[in-house]
Amino acid sequence: MADTRHFDVAIIGAGIAGSALAKALSGRGLAIALVEAQSLAPSQLPAELDLEHFDPRVSAITPRSKSLLEDLGAWQSIAAYRQCAYRHMTVWDAEGTGGIEFDCADVNAPALGHIVENRAIVSALLEQVAGSADIVAYSNARLQDCSRVDAGAGMRVQLEDGAVLEADLLVAADGALSRVREMMGFSTREWDYGHRAIVTTVQVERSHQDTCWQRFLTSGPLAFLPLPGEDGRNYCSIVWSLRDDLVDDLLALDERAFCTELERAFEGSLGAVLHCAPRFAFPLRQRHAIDYVQAGVALVADAAHTIHPLAGQGINLGLQDVAVLAEEVLAGHARGVSPGRLELLRRYQRRRKGENLLMMAAMDGFKALFEQQALPLRWLRNAGMRGVGQMGPIKQQLIRRAMGVG
Ligand SMILES: Cc1cc2nc3c(=O)[nH]c(=O)nc-3n(C[C@H](O)[C@H](O)[C@H](O)COP(=O)(O)OP(=O)(O)OC[C@H]3O[C@@H](n4cnc5c(N)ncnc54)[C@H](O)[C@@H]3O)c2cc1C
Repeated sequence: MADTRHFDVAIIGAGIAGSALAKALSGRGLAIALVEAQSLAPSQLPAELDLEHFDPRVSAITPRSKSLLEDLGAWQSIAAYRQCAYRHMTVWDAEGTGGIEFDCADVNAPALGHIVENRAIVSALLEQVAGSADIVAYSNARLQDCSRVDAGAGMRVQLEDGAVLEADLLVAADGALSRVREMMGFSTREWDYGHRAIVTTVQVERSHQDTCWQRFLTSGPLAFLPLPGEDGRNYCSIVWSLRDDLVDDLLALDERAFCTELERAFEGSLGAVLHCAPRFAFPLRQRHAIDYVQAGVALVADAAHTIHPLAGQGINLGLQDVAVLAEEVLAGHARGVSPGRLELLRRYQRRRKGENLLMMAAMDGFKALFEQQALPLRWLRNAGMRGVGQMGPIKQQLIRRAMGVG
């Protein structure tokens, strides 16, 4: 039997949430394991600014998340690589005249947020992990099983290569289809939105003006998110959420025909859609764990909750889970309390569940409202958008909340 290695905290999954948590816990006298099914070897990020070399997965990072990434030492590498600050947001209804504009000047901020390629965030965090002697990284290591240690409060983790770890706290940062969540018997409330999101990068004719654009169609929202460009070439990442039955037909189109459909759905707001990179489709499912914690186990980020991407809040909520869990674990550690103690973990759950639920309910409300075709509801939402746009303080409050600082 393989030797068993003991850690204070074992984190399964080194996506944005898992690698951020490992770094947030580092340097305070804890022994940390970070287990990832894929390779953790540093990879060269592509320098080319062209359609083929953008990561199709991007995130709209709020100022609050940026500040956390700065504290972890990761933002500096992201900024040195590439990102696009967005200073403006334009949201409008395909079925009417209503629309709303948000600008960073409304709240005296330099930007509303930043669009960053996911692999740039993970790579910057893993650079920090690699420089931390108290984090043992298990690369290309897939979780096979996890269970409670017979005699006590600890957790035992078995990896597919036969390695065995024990930890006072096991953290599930293994994403939406979390195996830890399933193996430890956490219940979830979930339902299918009946939507998939088509994600790709496009080149457009006109400048995106550092703006996030979102058009609400009755078949689902379509977002154009600004990316860095050069030499007069303008790029956007698109997230097009659509009813399931419409997605396969769009994926089957050739590049030219897809660009034409996209341009039509977007009302040509950035001129012609000139080219598009390969397209990917992600199923969209609302999922929320009823409990985030058990003695010795905590769920964070997508392992705890997944949300419709229409307001780009998923990983922003996840990074706040990370910040709060790290704060509670480190405060407990300073008082000599084990990181797996249920009371400590419940504090984490209390502090995060309300905010996550509120955001999920708001996104569901938005989505439902914009799917309505009944005339009175269409009139209401158009009048509502125009009204909010004219109410300074309410608009400012909305902007601050979306920036994570409200
Ligand atoms: C179309 C789309 C657009 C989105 N846009 C935005 C946006 O603009 N802004 C935003 O904030 N959010 C956005 N999101 C949500 C965001 O992408 C997720 O919230 C985020 O990626 C979740 O990060 P995570 O670290 O929790 O999980 P993941 O990124 O899924 O990482 C989980 C990690 O665990 C590893 N793993 C899984 N199983 C095992 C195992 N058994 N053993 C070992 N390792 C394992 C995986 O390899 C992976 O590296 C979007 C989501 C979608 C679908």
